[in-house]
Amino acid sequence: MKLYELGIAEARAGLAKGEFSSRELVEAVIERFHAANPDVGAYLTFDEDAALALADTNPKAVPVAVKDLINVRGQPCTCASKILEGYISPYDATVIANMRANGFIPAGRVNMDEFAMGSSTENSALGVTRNPYDLSRVPGGSSGGSAAAVGANMCIAALGTDTGGSIRQPASFCNCVGIKPSYGRVSRYGVTAFASSLDQVGPLAKNVEDAALLLQAIAGHDEHDGTTPRIPVGDYAAAARSATLKGRKIGIVKEYAGIGGIDPEVKRITDEAIAKCAAAGAEISEVSLPHAEYAMAVYYIIAPAEASANLARFDGVRYGLRSARAEDVFTLYTRSRAEGFGPEVKRRIIMGTYVLSSGYYDAYYARAQKVRTLIRRDFENAFGEIDAILTPCAPTPAFRAGEVLDPLTMYLNDLFTIPSSLAGVCASSVPAGFTAARGDRPALPVGVQFICGSFEEEKLVSISKAFEETMK
Ligand code: GLN
Repeated sequence: MKLYELGIAEARAGLAKGEFSSRELVEAVIERFHAANPDVGAYLTFDEDAALALADTNPKAVPVAVKDLINVRGQPCTCASKILEGYISPYDATVIANMRANGFIPAGRVNMDEFAMGSSTENSALGVTRNPYDLSRVPGGSSGGSAAAVGANMCIAALGTDTGGSIRQPASFCNCVGIKPSYGRVSRYGVTAFASSLDQVGPLAKNVEDAALLLQAIAGHDEHDGTTPRIPVGDYAAAARSATLKGRKIGIVKEYAGIGGIDPEVKRITDEAIAKCAAAGAEISEVSLPHAEYAMAVYYIIAPAEASANLARFDGVRYGLRSARAEDVFTLYTRSRAEGFGPEVKRRIIMGTYVLSSGYYDAYYARAQKVRTLIRRDFENAFGEIDAILTPCAPTPAFRAGEVLDPLTMYLNDLFTIPSSLAGVCASSVPAGFTAARGDRPALPVGVQFICGSFEEEKLVSISKAFEETMK
């Protein structure tokens, strides 16, 4: 086995026994990066000297690939946007500081949809990332670089972010485990904001235990992020070791039965996952999320509204790109933004500005907030009766690059992940099998989603790990 194929737990065991050093581990990842990146394109940049120097000063540390919107001191942070070209981070995000304090080092920066807006990584302005299971297909998004790097063994594990599904859907497409923590569980200080009432940082990893270890390292209260309460971080590694489905109440969402647009193979794999949970001792019951059908509409009001405010700071003055065609201060703003942002980002800024504008605010934004409250209550009610909800992660397996062209069809990727994002609860994506190969499509990985209540990451890890065991 090559060192780059290792996961976190295995790498730590080898480092502890002195079988290899952190430098050798980083060297192996770099070797794999050179071999695979021309095809997969998971990474945007890899500062090899910086990673090796960190390994030398932290000889037991495990390298982690970082989504290119998380600040690492001295490294670029492009958000896969032209508008941040040339920007170098002056400080570490709290997740990076926490990683360093807990036996991890940042190594390489991975691709994403521009400002995390998208579901295929095709909105990156800086590079193409391909699905390692079929290079003609997308890795998902927006954390597509993170998922492709994990899926192609181009890293030991990776950090991603999830606003409406951006950890879970690419994890499903690339056969890795992803965890979107509860809102407030992980600090966003130093993480470029997309939609501040939704964004969370989380792990993408080769197995549930690894995801638990990385989550444990980054989570916790942070005085720099007022949304992080002083709720103690659980022992997620222990939760993985004591994993069980026995007696767990797993809910299947009534409203999703017969829903259109689901790939039959995704349906089959999800049904099999439910049967596996039952065989492992879980009690399966129906659960109702009566307002879930409005989640997509609500998300595409709230997320763009917040994005339009968050992205106002990219004005050609403070960061990155400044238009060479600026004639005065007004055209400095407008031309820098016109040249710097890609089409999807512009679409979101325009939508967001519209729904926040006077006269429309009440009709759209205020109303969406009310429906969001109803969706949150649906989950609170559900978790009064059950431990976890099981759904498909994404409606389809990885699609072909260039296949989904209209934005609305692209948005449907997040059908099953957006409701839990709006509710602020935690959720995972766990590999659940492969589609049957057919003429136009090879066998492709598919993940299922487990959702648990707010700050119930230990339960989420335990159930996800126990499900992973049923796959062996
Ligand atoms: N695909 C969704 C969007 O485009 C979710 C993105 C995300 O979670 N960052 O907004």
